[in-house]
Amino acid sequence: MMGAMWNFVHTALMDFLFPCPLLLSQVCAKDKSCEDHPEMRFLHWFHKWRQLHHDQEYEVTWYVSWSPCARCANSVATFLAEDPKVTLTIFVARLYFFWKPDYQEALRSLCQKRGGPHATMKIMNYDEFQHCWDKFVYRPKKPFKPRENLPKHYTLLHTILGELLRHLMDPDTFTLNFNNEPWVSGQHESYLCYKVERLDNGTWVPMDEHRGFLHNQAPNKHGFPKGRHAELCFLDLIPFWKLDGQQYRVTCFTSWSPCFSCAQEMATFISNNKHVSLRIFAARIYDDQGRGQEGLRALHTAGAEIAMMNYSEFKYCWDTFVDRQGRPFQPWDGLDEHSQALSGRLRAILQNQGN
Ligand SMILES: [Zn+2]
Ligand SMILES: [Zn+2]
Repeated sequence: MMGAMWNFVHTALMDFLFPCPLLLSQVCAKDKSCEDHPEMRFLHWFHKWRQLHHDQEYEVTWYVSWSPCARCANSVATFLAEDPKVTLTIFVARLYFFWKPDYQEALRSLCQKRGGPHATMKIMNYDEFQHCWDKFVYRPKKPFKPRENLPKHYTLLHTILGELLRHLMDPDTFTLNFNNEPWVSGQHESYLCYKVERLDNGTWVPMDEHRGFLHNQAPNKHGFPKGRHAELCFLDLIPFWKLDGQQYRVTCFTSWSPCFSCAQEMATFISNNKHVSLRIFAARIYDDQGRGQEGLRALHTAGAEIAMMNYSEFKYCWDTFVDRQGRPFQPWDGLDEHSQALSGRLRAILQNQGN
């Protein structure tokens, strides 16, 4: 089914939607050639189109119910490499077999920036669902109504895709959000970088496939009254790593320490998962009317290590999570002083002497 098509002087934009959520998994099991997969049917059709319009540049946008299978991803990558005048953005509603290394590898080779033309892959969010509803769905005057858990699922899939494609944080975003000036104002967003290690013969071995960052979902966006704090988004993610049979250590670097209710949720998580230990390094202390302190104490009592980020953690995050393009970490004015002052305050809070 073809949606809408606009032609510009040099650039044509095409929107495509394949409404077949179950088709891929059924076909993949028995059809090794992928000929029936919507991605291949598009390429087949588009190839003919290109022969008639071979000197034009095209921006193609796909909205697909599942991310492409490994074979389709490889075929699309080859197609893009052979036709550099075509750029492709793929919005996916769900990630297909994202835990399998060969599927991950295929998506990486389709989307990698270095080494020529590539596709951009994103998770469908409210705006894309709305756009598809308006453009491709036959609707008798019914407005688009998203499922209630859309923000939660979006954040989860976005973070998993970020891990998979090894997304890095924009340097300005890092510097703005992780600045540890205690009286900083206007930072309503909260960022959380994470890494995971497993215990092997007494040493912590990094699991680099589970490293990334996320941020909170702001409330009142797109008619969703409740936002979701970064820590809760993070707790949603952990079960997908299938950490079992061994001892694990999860480390979070957060721009703000957790609020009371997130601290409680995290405390419950570690109490129920004795094989996972949790360390939290925060850039600043978030205190929601004094309850934040109570939350930090509860989390500490449950066994989490809580500390303020100092130079070495900021540098580690810069080196690991930021798209720094070879630039070394530049500490801001007052980094050490703020870090020391905040550490003193945190100590007092954990010893129940803070205010
Ligand atoms: Zn396929
Ligand atoms: Zn919170």
